[in-house]
Amino acid sequence: MTMTDLAEFAQRHRRLFVLTGAGCSTESGIPDYRDANGDWKRAAPVTYQAFMGEEATRQRYWARSLIGWRVMGHARPGLAHRALARLETAGRMELLLTQNVDGLHRAAGSRRVIDLHGRIDIVRCMACEARSPRAALQAELLRRNPEWAALDATPAPDGDADLEARDFSGFDIPACAHCGGLLKPDVVFFGENVPRERVNEALGALAQADAVLVAGSSLMVYSGFRFVQAAVAAGKPVAAVNLGRTRADELLTLKLERPVGEALEALASALGERA
Ligand SMILES: [Zn+2]
Repeated sequence: MTMTDLAEFAQRHRRLFVLTGAGCSTESGIPDYRDANGDWKRAAPVTYQAFMGEEATRQRYWARSLIGWRVMGHARPGLAHRALARLETAGRMELLLTQNVDGLHRAAGSRRVIDLHGRIDIVRCMACEARSPRAALQAELLRRNPEWAALDATPAPDGDADLEARDFSGFDIPACAHCGGLLKPDVVFFGENVPRERVNEALGALAQADAVLVAGSSLMVYSGFRFVQAAVAAGKPVAAVNLGRTRADELLTLKLERPVGEALEALASALGERA
């Protein structure tokens, strides 16, 4: 398949339901979880059950997050984010559903966005549901754990970092300032369900859309893959731009194996010229 095929696909189907994944953010410096075969590049991320159940897991998570936030907290939108914002401006976007937690679609100017897996820049109290900015927690984590501030490590996709073989037992995590409850990033962890109302809102937009465009996702996680299944069940065509295999390859009308930023920019330009 070529760029021209993708542009023609978007010409035929005016209102797009766009589903994005980690491939859209790699050029913003946020690394991808998976290789071209959809397999884990690193150890699988922390699960909801381990995070909620074990203090040691939370210490390890927040210590790594303290380092990883330096990259995540300063990441800027790239070509893919900007191109998708242009598609929305051109009236082509029914919904942008992202599996990314980095907030870069909104930073690029997209407004019709659902963050399927939540936002890494927000912290949630699991007891009283209070939300607070991750940046404020960063300052507090640094104040309580100054010896960790000097460390360097390889950042990971969920704002985490690789810091193996360290003793995390002294890491001091603040509790909720309102109720003393347990703080968790406001993201859907592995082993945790996406909130039902969020899924329903996205399915409602899918019903209004003419077609689905998957951008930079291998769709290995069911919470994203389900929308492709739902589209196919409803008779809507699905196109994908992704380097490497996707879980939905057999379901796709069109597949373009190109860098996602470059492909979406070409698409936005092609559509913009005819708008
Ligand atoms: Zn609380």
